[in-house]
Amino acid sequence: MSHKQASFYESVQQNFNKAASFTSHPKGLLDQIRECNAVYQMRFPVKIGDEYEVIEAYRVQHSHHRSPTKGGIRFSHLVNQDEVMALASLMTFKCAIVDVPFGGAKGGVKVSPRKYNEEQLERITRRYTVELIRKNFIGPSVDVPAPDYGTGAREMAWILDTYTTFKGNEIDAVGCVTGKPVNQNGIRGREEATGRGVYYGLRELLNSESEMNRIGLSPGMEGKTIVVQGLGNVGSFASKICQNEGGAKIIGVSEIEGTIHDPSGINVEALIEYRQKNKSILGFPGTKTLDVREDWVKIECDVLIPAALESVIHKDNASELNCKIVAEAANGPVTAEGGDILIEKGILILPDMYLNAGGVTVSYFEWLKNLSHIRFGRMDKRFTENSYSNLVKLVEDMTGKSVPDQQRRFLTKGADEIDLVRSGLEETMVNSFHQIREEFNKNDQIKDYRTAAFVVALNKVANDYITLGVFP
Ligand code: NAD
Repeated sequence: MSHKQASFYESVQQNFNKAASFTSHPKGLLDQIRECNAVYQMRFPVKIGDEYEVIEAYRVQHSHHRSPTKGGIRFSHLVNQDEVMALASLMTFKCAIVDVPFGGAKGGVKVSPRKYNEEQLERITRRYTVELIRKNFIGPSVDVPAPDYGTGAREMAWILDTYTTFKGNEIDAVGCVTGKPVNQNGIRGREEATGRGVYYGLRELLNSESEMNRIGLSPGMEGKTIVVQGLGNVGSFASKICQNEGGAKIIGVSEIEGTIHDPSGINVEALIEYRQKNKSILGFPGTKTLDVREDWVKIECDVLIPAALESVIHKDNASELNCKIVAEAANGPVTAEGGDILIEKGILILPDMYLNAGGVTVSYFEWLKNLSHIRFGRMDKRFTENSYSNLVKLVEDMTGKSVPDQQRRFLTKGADEIDLVRSGLEETMVNSFHQIREEFNKNDQIKDYRTAAFVVALNKVANDYITLGVFP
């Protein structure tokens, strides 16, 4: 018997098949939903210094049942077709879970961003975008990329500029990519969105008394101990917000350079500043460095948040976890076999396809903003403020008392774009959590949240296909 770990894509397919067995959809429909609809593998030359380098890259559109397709672009030396196909598949189910009306897609460029300077990265990004334009793999109604591991607002701005160079006459051209800088048709709150969504999702689970009783934790986030892997975009916002707004205690952090631990709690904001200055988290005051970086999984805590890469919890280390919840901020951090061991141990996995959907949710808001050509809040903010002011004045006139200035400002505030984005994100994460929990509680045979989430997503995608008339 082979002891080879299942690949990431195989893992996603195994999870899909498990969930599919809890539905009654015909085999043909399930096959259609499972498979990637279009895979574009490319090679292009980019001049780096005096030499040309041939860059390997991908864009995979997993499902065309909704348009446009949507998914981030990853820059990493580990990128390969299997990984991009797995990530694209997850995007379809992720969008379905949070009712974002897109098909799933993902892009990958096999480069290590640390190896290149800014100018070289710009050249690579622009050339990749040209390839996508040439093959009609990008556009506001076709396929809309976003940031992922190794990319951010800067890369999205390069993509936008390249796209508009070719297609600037399209009225909705700026909706060709999301996660853009706010001053270049982006949206406030996109940068923090995935991490903030992780916070809302985890908070909702921790607030659920019945679930906490089941796994032996007291309800609420206040005082819960958390260990996080990866202090990039997702990990830094997730841990900062859990600490500042949820009152959680971050007791361990793992990064490329190693893992630090302090049972009395680490101030994440100070740690991020420290890392920027020292280029490392090691030596942060009050913390101990573990001998082995990978031992972050063994630290005793309430919640483990993997927020770096896939397959970091697998069949060979899953039995060593010492936590009650694994909150999958990263995509695919727990392999299918690793997941089975965790379920056996009674550890609850809050699955990636739900928990990190905050990014695509706010990307959807950004895309809507781009198509409507107007900032959220512009039409109604003043109107709301005036109405509330009139109400406060009426109360003052009727009672003969005056409302203190600070309270007046609080009571009469109209919603800005950031308030609306956060409120829409919170609403989405809370609603979707309850849909998944309901599915989980409905069927005794379903032993984990991932399967429940998959079933919810699968049913929604299947209904879309049926509505489209593809599978009457
Ligand atoms: P990022 O590049 O901003 O950060 C990743 C961090 O992980 C980096 O700081 C890196 O140094 C660290 N890291 C890499 N290998 C590590 C290792 N072996 N041990 C410890 N740390 C390591 O990427 P990101 O955007 O935060 O994405 C992280 C994960 O979240 C990915 O799985 C991504 O697919 C997923 N995700 C991201 C978004 C988004 O909006 N950015 C949305 C959904 C899901």
